[in-house]
Parts: sequence; C-alpha cells; structure tokens
Amino acid sequence: ATPLALIRGGGMAAERGILMRSGEAFQILKDITHVVLDKTGTITEGKPRLVAVEAVSDLGRDEVLRLAAGAEAASEHPLARAIVDAAEERALEMPEAGDFQATAGQGIEATVEGRRILVGTSRFLRSRDVDVSPAQEVLDRHEAQAHTAVLVSIAGAVAGVLAIADAVKPDAKDAIAELKRRGITPVMLTGDNERTARAVAAAVEIDEVHAQVVPQDKAARVRGLQEQGARVAMVGDGINDAPALMQAHVGIAIGAGTDIAIESSDVVLIGERLGAVPEAITIGGMSYRKTVQNLW
Ligand code: ADP
Ligand code: MG
Repeated sequence: ATPLALIRGGGMAAERGILMRSGEAFQILKDITHVVLDKTGTITEGKPRLVAVEAVSDLGRDEVLRLAAGAEAASEHPLARAIVDAAEERALEMPEAGDFQATAGQGIEATVEGRRILVGTSRFLRSRDVDVSPAQEVLDRHEAQAHTAVLVSIAGAVAGVLAIADAVKPDAKDAIAELKRRGITPVMLTGDNERTARAVAAAVEIDEVHAQVVPQDKAARVRGLQEQGARVAMVGDGINDAPALMQAHVGIAIGAGTDIAIESSDVVLIGERLGAVPEAITIGGMSYRKTVQNLW
C-alpha cells in the first residue's frame, strides 16, 4: 500500500466518523465475508429504558427497584443506567452498596442494607442457587415482547423482574441490507436471551443469531467462523466485546464505545450510525483500488 492512498482513504473515512487505528485494517476490510454484530449498543441504540417493574414476592415494586438500583449504581452496563435512572425518576432514595461484583454478560451483585442483591439473567441467578420459578411466567411474557427482562434476587429469593426496552437504531435495517447486497453475511451475537435476540434480529432481517453468548464465547464464535474460512469483521461497543474484537480480522468499535472496546479495535466509528460499517468497507475497497492504480 502506498501511504498516499491510505492517507486519502483515511481523510474520506474521517469525514464520515470512521477512524482507522491501523493502515492494515483498510486492506483487510475489502475482503470481509462476515460481519458479526453485538446487539446492545450496536444494533440497538444502547439507551435502554425501564418499561416495567413487576414484583413476584411480598416486597413492593418500588422496594425491588430501589434495592436493584442501589446494587447497580457501580455498574457501567447500559441496563444498569436504565435501572438507576428509573429509580431516580421515581424519586426513590438510593441506598449505598458494598462488595459490588459484576459477571460480564450475566449480571451484578452487591450488598445493600445487609442483604445480598443479585440482578441479571435467570442463568446467573440459578448459578447462585436462586430458585427462579416464581418469576418464570413474568419473564416469558416480557421476553416475548422483545424486552430484556432481568431478575432481581434479594437475600437468596427472587423478588422481581425489571423489563427494559432498547430501540433498534433507525438505520440498522438499511445497514444490514447493504451488507447483504454485497454478499456479506451478518451475524448477531448477544448475551441476551434467545427470545429477545430473535425479536431484534427479525426487525433488522439478520438470519444468523447466537443468543446467551458470554463474552469469552463471543471470541470463540468469531474464531469458529474464521476456522471455516470466513474473513470476519466484529462490530461492538462494550467491554464484553473486547475479546471478540481482538479475535476478528478487523475489530470495529462503535458509538460511545468503552475505552477497552476502542483499545481492542482496528476501526473506531464515531457516532451511533450502523451505516458507517458498510461505508468503512467501501472506503477500504476504494483506497485499495487507488493503491493498485498508483502502482501502475
Ligand atoms: P449484549 O451482548 O446484548 O451487549 P451483555 O453481554 O452485556 O449484552 O449482557 C447479557 C445479559 O446479561 C443482559 O441481557 C442482562 O440480562 C445480563 N446483564 C449483564 N450486565 C448486567 C447488569 N449490570 N445488570 C443486569 N443484568 C445484566
Ligand atoms: Mg453491547
């Protein structure tokens, strides 16, 4: 590659909020066969809002929300933000939390007012020996509506369900269609549950979906595709996407990506537009062609 072509491509890219952290990324982009996308914050806006609080024990809904928000206060996850914001909107007095611990792709736990609070997936609660069956029906109902529903356990017993909705980005469907038009296969990977994942994938017309994928497994899924000969670009925004971003041929961090996602990527998309992904691929191809012309 001639540096000139790279610089030119780089300028064009920068105008569209596409920053290349390595010159190599350009060349690899033109050969991509699969684009693997994280769901939350990548395909969706990543600005989830709490849409329902349901109590499944004798504790009231406000009490469930108050304790969950106290436990989530130290979490950087977008779901945590939604829970804390909702508690603040309802003017609930937020309790202090201690011994905070996050399990990536599963949930968080902390001690609030002397009680251990868990917030996360049913798998996460079950791994901590919590019987989730009292919440199952409520959980199913929300997941069928494409809500991300997280369970709240208080002192070892499931106490409620928090239903969170995250809108699909306005340009997501077009961006996916554009990738398909170029013969690139989009694949969605998410830590979220199967039902919510399918509902979101259907909305943007992605056929290949892997749900309940923990962060280490996101990288393994990318490696699996690579072993079948795929040239993979991974698009993600979160700390949980970092291993997969590193594993992919090209890692693409999007939006207000966490520092670690950016550090793990070759390409950084400033802004929320998913349309910048096919654009980056186009620019990669163009600067490559320029390079070839320059050589002639
Ligand atoms: P995605 O892959 O969609 O970005 P994550 O891998 O970050 O999602 O999380 C997967 C699932 O783990 C979430 O849908 C949620 O159920 C649970 N989870 C993760 N972090 C938290 C948290 N801080 N609070 C509650 N639930 C969480
Ligand atoms: Mg994410």
